[in-house]
Amino acid sequence: MTDTPEPAKRLLVRTWGCQMNVYDSARMADVLAPLGYGSTGELEGADMVVLNTCHIREKASEKVFSELGRLRLMKQARAAEGRRMIIAVAGCVAQAEGAAILERAPFVDIVLGPQATHRLPALVRRAEAGERALLDTEFPPEDKFDELPEATIPQGLTAFLTVQEGCDKFCSFCVVPYTRGAEYSRPAASVLAEARRLVAQGAREITLLGQNVNAYHGEGPDGSTWRLSRLIRALADIDGLARIRYTTSHPRDFMDEHGGDVELIAAHRAVPQLMPFLHLPVQSGSDAMLRAMNRRHTADDFLRIVDALREAQPDLALSSDFIVGHPGETEADFAATMALVRRVGFASAFSFKFSARPGTPAAELEMRVPEATKDARLLELQALLRDQQAAFNASLLGRVIPVLILEPGRHKGQMAGRSPWLQPVHAMLPPTLAGEIVPLRITAAHPNSLAAEATSATPLDAPAPAMPERAMPLLQAASA
Ligand code: SF4
Repeated sequence: MTDTPEPAKRLLVRTWGCQMNVYDSARMADVLAPLGYGSTGELEGADMVVLNTCHIREKASEKVFSELGRLRLMKQARAAEGRRMIIAVAGCVAQAEGAAILERAPFVDIVLGPQATHRLPALVRRAEAGERALLDTEFPPEDKFDELPEATIPQGLTAFLTVQEGCDKFCSFCVVPYTRGAEYSRPAASVLAEARRLVAQGAREITLLGQNVNAYHGEGPDGSTWRLSRLIRALADIDGLARIRYTTSHPRDFMDEHGGDVELIAAHRAVPQLMPFLHLPVQSGSDAMLRAMNRRHTADDFLRIVDALREAQPDLALSSDFIVGHPGETEADFAATMALVRRVGFASAFSFKFSARPGTPAAELEMRVPEATKDARLLELQALLRDQQAAFNASLLGRVIPVLILEPGRHKGQMAGRSPWLQPVHAMLPPTLAGEIVPLRITAAHPNSLAAEATSATPLDAPAPAMPERAMPLLQAASA
């Protein structure tokens, strides 16, 4: 037996924000492996620390600078021992703040935009040679995907795969079009090749990522343009890939009249690997607010899309994003949001108070909603969304559902898995079932997870038969 050699240098990547940042962080570990860097979860002893940042939350930059303050002390302590520690800031704060980071935190070695991941090794080599204050915030993303080497570090049973980057929508409150640039779709052949590699490394479920993933317009292997629906149908042909998801979608890109990918709705009926769970941000139920936010769809458009999706896939559950207290939001606007939420019924959601992001059009708007009003509205909305999530989880009680078994749970003999609707599921099962999709009966519904037990149909003492999920009904009645 040969031991895996210890990596010569330790790399810690701290990730904030969306799954696209999680994906980028994994690619950073990939590109730095040939330079002798192996991943560590510990700050102690790290030879290089990357802060992969997110600009969405309030005071994002301040939080990065306070983290950098702590790193500066560690870097000084390492230097006193005659050892080097490279500090890099990546992601959307790096893109937005650029050189300002190097001015305010001159001990930072590298500032790297989200489109420059493939150039990180060259920057690290220069930093190791003693160069300081290296800045790379260049677009465009084409180069990134053309030049990134193949991913080598397995992601596990569930994997992320970025297929699209950037945004052309310019919602009034959002910095993404300024930090990630214009919409760009990777060629389908490169996505399919990466998906095959992920499956060969063990992935059973792949989540396709994009800021506007359903705006996907990639070049197909035949030279034609493939939409996301076409890409998903091709991915569904990969042997061993049991589950496909995609996030985040924009309602407009589901709309025929705006050249959207309506076939994607049909794919929810036709492609059994496509999971019946969709994150579709609506932000508000008021058309006046949607206009003010430059969302370019109405509340009614959103409801029509939801109805069509539910007709295609009756088991479909939805999550969404909401902003309350956008400048100018009246009681009637907020009531329209509550009405939309009641009409749709969400399985989960993210909701926030409006807060101005510097550099966005909404930051200039008058008619600010008082903080106390925003607080009250957010509480009311979140109470309703919590009730809906609890009701959705409770609706599964007694049902038998297919669960992808992932890893040991917190308790002895317990395994943790994932439902088709992304809920964590816990059950007493043998560890040999990791990677299998097995039918389990739901015995308890908690706010954010489910408990389950094996049924007579659950294979317990041998690897599960290679039953495709399509052969397993999504929901069986409680008596099944
Ligand atoms: S669609 Fe709107 S919220 Fe989403 S990334 Fe683009 S600008 Fe931001």
